[in-house]
Amino acid sequence: MNKLVIVGTVAFDAIETPFGKTDKILGGAATYIGLSASNFDINGAIVSVVGGDFPEEYITMLKEKGLDVSGLEIVPEGKTFFWSGKYHNDMNTRDTLATELNVLADFNPIVPEDYKDAEVVMLGNLHPIVQMGVINQMKNPKLVVLDTMNFWMDCALPELMEVIKKVDVITINDEEARQLSGEYSLVNASKKIMSMGPKYVVIKKGEHGALLFHGEDMFYAPALPLAEVFDPTGAGDTFAGGFTGFLAKTEDYSFENMKNAIIYGSALASFCVEKFGTERILDVSKEEIHNRLHQFKSLTQFDIKIT
Ligand code: AMP
Repeated sequence: MNKLVIVGTVAFDAIETPFGKTDKILGGAATYIGLSASNFDINGAIVSVVGGDFPEEYITMLKEKGLDVSGLEIVPEGKTFFWSGKYHNDMNTRDTLATELNVLADFNPIVPEDYKDAEVVMLGNLHPIVQMGVINQMKNPKLVVLDTMNFWMDCALPELMEVIKKVDVITINDEEARQLSGEYSLVNASKKIMSMGPKYVVIKKGEHGALLFHGEDMFYAPALPLAEVFDPTGAGDTFAGGFTGFLAKTEDYSFENMKNAIIYGSALASFCVEKFGTERILDVSKEEIHNRLHQFKSLTQFDIKIT
């Protein structure tokens, strides 16, 4: 069974959307990535840190999902990373109200010994120095995927650029791609980002789907149009978990197979937004995922006769 190393925040989130408001609930990039990737028959390990305030029941739940948490450090006297955000009425844009790094501020990641030979590494959103620390511990990964956000571009750009040089794939949202590249056109932005290191660029456009770029090749997958979106938090990470989970399972890292990985990622992300936090992604069944993949197929398939 192939192995997937997942690094990212394991967090408390407080979320406000036009549909409601939550107190501190389970969140974090690595949480969403791990839960999403757990839908594939792979060994996934989370490398992250939490404080003594992190409930034991959440750790048990991650284990029950088949995730290895031996790389999840607990700092008993520290506080867990906290993020709070408020979505605008369009649900596509949000304001970050608080980002408290807490135990993440001086986290030294340790990849479990038996995961150092993993083929796939998913560097979820967190400090680029931590992401680099994970890359440096890996023996010979076949695919390193990086996700990041404007927060790190604003406060740790030089360190982030060093990580970008070393990865195969970067997943990033459209506004962040523009910020990183200084280009408005996403085609030009992807070219500029590829010149920084990655051979593949995935640009996430929320409810407008995702684009994959590789050299001169391009692929587009829509997001499933949904009647109700309750909370988009974690959709990008759930996408990343589906993308890397599928690639780790199939062990095929070609552009052609990445197209399928994007569809898997998009299908899983479409569940994530249906309820608050991790609630929906925690209870999604294999059958529901399969049905949604069929929906994606019929959404995008057509049989035009080009004469
Ligand atoms: P997404 O909606 O996919 O961007 O992911 C939201 C998740 O990212 C939330 O669960 C947050 O805990 C986490 N998050 C928010 N800001 C940061 C940050 N600066 N670094 C790492 N993770 C973050």
